[in-house]
Amino acid sequence: MKKRLTIALVAHDRRKADMIDWVKYNAEFLSHHHLVCTGTTGGLVKKAFDELGVKADVECMNSGPMGGDAEIAAMVVRKEIDLAIFLIDDLNPQPHEADIQMLLRQCRIHNVPIACNRISADLMISSPLLGDPTYKSSEPSYIRFDRKNNQ
Ligand code: PGA
Repeated sequence: MKKRLTIALVAHDRRKADMIDWVKYNAEFLSHHHLVCTGTTGGLVKKAFDELGVKADVECMNSGPMGGDAEIAAMVVRKEIDLAIFLIDDLNPQPHEADIQMLLRQCRIHNVPIACNRISADLMISSPLLGDPTYKSSEPSYIRFDRKNNQ
């Protein structure tokens, strides 16, 4: 049996329709995992599963602007998140830009896969490497690059 994952789902207001469509499209897969969402996204995700009549394990944090992204970033730091789907509104400013950048940065630092559009999310959850106990991803390295001697 494949490992039960903890998956973070966050969508900005203008990306919520996309997130709900994506959740419905992948409802069967998602119903086998623990979903951690920012507040408003989580409420909509729960409603989507109810409408489909599919049981799901959805945990809601605070709303994004009130610290939900920061709570999920803290979970990333504690290695409690296996992968994240983060649909960002790139066309409008957000009041919690600092928290958004923090969540993205912590995923990069702690090597947590994060998809910021639906195609990446689809590719990520359909990867045969997902949940494969023999697959070991390499951690990011921050080795100094000697520009002068590499030209
Ligand atoms: P929300 O937060 O799901 O509570 O709307 C998302 C966000 O703005 O980061």
